[in-house]
Amino acid sequence: MNKKIVALILVIITAVSFVGCGNQENDQKSEVSPRPIVIQGAMDVEVETLVSQLKDAKEVKYGTWTYWEGTMDNYPVVVAKTEIGMTNAAANTVFAIEKFNPIAIINQGTSGGHDPALHRYDIVVGKKAVNFGSLRSERAEYGEGIQAENWIPMNNAAIDKETGEEKKVFEFEADKNLVETAMSVASSYENGTVVEGIIGSADEWNRELDRIQWIHETFGTSTEEMETASAAQIADVFDVPFVGIRILSNTEIHNEEYDRESGIYCQEYVAKVTKELIKQYSMK
Ligand code: SAH
Repeated sequence: MNKKIVALILVIITAVSFVGCGNQENDQKSEVSPRPIVIQGAMDVEVETLVSQLKDAKEVKYGTWTYWEGTMDNYPVVVAKTEIGMTNAAANTVFAIEKFNPIAIINQGTSGGHDPALHRYDIVVGKKAVNFGSLRSERAEYGEGIQAENWIPMNNAAIDKETGEEKKVFEFEADKNLVETAMSVASSYENGTVVEGIIGSADEWNRELDRIQWIHETFGTSTEEMETASAAQIADVFDVPFVGIRILSNTEIHNEEYDRESGIYCQEYVAKVTKELIKQYSMK
C-alpha cells in the first residue's frame, strides 16, 4: 500500500479512537479477540501437528505447562500440552480456562481400545468421559486376596461453581454441538472409522484382556487413556463446552500395538473439526 494512504488511515483511526474513547476498550475486546478454542494433547506427538498449523504461534508457559497461542483461519486457537496423566490434565485445564477464557475445549490424542468393534486408527468422539480409576472395595480380611473385578465404581466429587455445593458426578457429558460438529466430518476420515462413544480415563495402562473387558462392561468405555475425564471435570465446573476426541493408537483386543503416528492422524482430524467450529463461531 502507498505510504500516504497508510498515514491517512492511521490519522483517521487515531481520530476515531480519540472521539470514541469511552467505549473503546470493550469494543476492541469483542472484535479483536473472540474467545479462543483450546485444543489439548499430552505428548509432543499429540500436539506438534496442530502447533505447525497455527499462524503466528506464540509459546507461553504457565506452571510447567506449554501453550501455543495462534490463529487458524483467522480465529484464535490455543494448543495446550497437558503432559501425561489425570493430575496434569486437570491443572492444565485450570490454567487454560483462567488465562484464555476459551469458548470450547477439545482434549485429543492417543488411546487403547476397549470396544471389540474398534481397531487401531479408529477415532472415538466422546459423548461422555468417565474416570474408571475411581473405585472402592468392600472390606476383606488378610489372606482374602485382591479381587479387582469386585471393585465398585465411585462418584467423583466436584464443587458446583454457582451454588458452592458438592455435586457427585459419575461421568462427564460432552457438549452436544461439539460432538455433532466432530461427527459432521467423519466421512472425510480415511484411516479408519469415526464413532461416538465413551472415553475412559485413569492413570493406568491396561493390557489384561479380562480387565479391559471388565472396564468396558462396567463403564461402557470405548477406549482408555489418561487425561480426558479429568479435563472434562474441570471444564464442567467452569461451564466451558468440552469434547474429547481420541484415536485408537493400540488395542490389545486385536493385538494391534501402539503406533505413535496415530497421534498425527488424530490431530489432522481435530484440525478439520476445529475449522468447522471456526465457521460457526465466526458467523456469530
Ligand atoms: N508408550 C508411549 C507412552 C505413552 S504414556 C511412549 O513410549 O511414547 C500414555 C499416554 O498415552 C497417555 O497420555 C495416554 O492418554 C495415552 N494412551 C495411549 N494408549 C493408552 C492405553 N492403552 N492406556 C492408557 N493410556 C494410553
